[in-house]
Amino acid sequence: MVVVADKVVLIHYTLRNDEGKVIDSSAGGDPLAYIHGHGNLISGLEKELEGKPAGEKLAVRIAPADGYGERSAELVQRVPRRSFGGATVKPGMQFQAQTSSGEARVATVTSLQGDMVMVDMNHPLAGENLHFEVEITEIRDATEEELAHGHVHGPGGHHHHDH
Ligand code: ZN
Repeated sequence: MVVVADKVVLIHYTLRNDEGKVIDSSAGGDPLAYIHGHGNLISGLEKELEGKPAGEKLAVRIAPADGYGERSAELVQRVPRRSFGGATVKPGMQFQAQTSSGEARVATVTSLQGDMVMVDMNHPLAGENLHFEVEITEIRDATEEELAHGHVHGPGGHHHHDH
């Protein structure tokens, strides 16, 4: 069996940036389980895994366009501190925000400038090359229920649900 659309794929992975710093890793825990071809992973990584058998190990570099996108200057904005309604605002604070086109994004406060707050709505990994080391630990058929829900049940997936 190889990785194709609608298969449940379990992977161990380590993600590093250009400087070699580990950003995320499944090491020491359960492998990540996902349904292939449903946009659950970034597109560049799904492309690299396509057609590979269980047991395969790969090391790939994914450019921003196939990862979390390029950084956009338009997503960096100055907003008045009063728009936070009296809440304490500190650099590093994150909150849900909407872009002018209505898209939901996580925004990060980057600095304070007097009564203004600099807010960055870019994904923290936007503009970064992603260096993945991946091992495919298991490939199996998805159940009908998993396909209907669009996510994996059981080990590495969702254990609890109320849907
Ligand atoms: Zn479910």
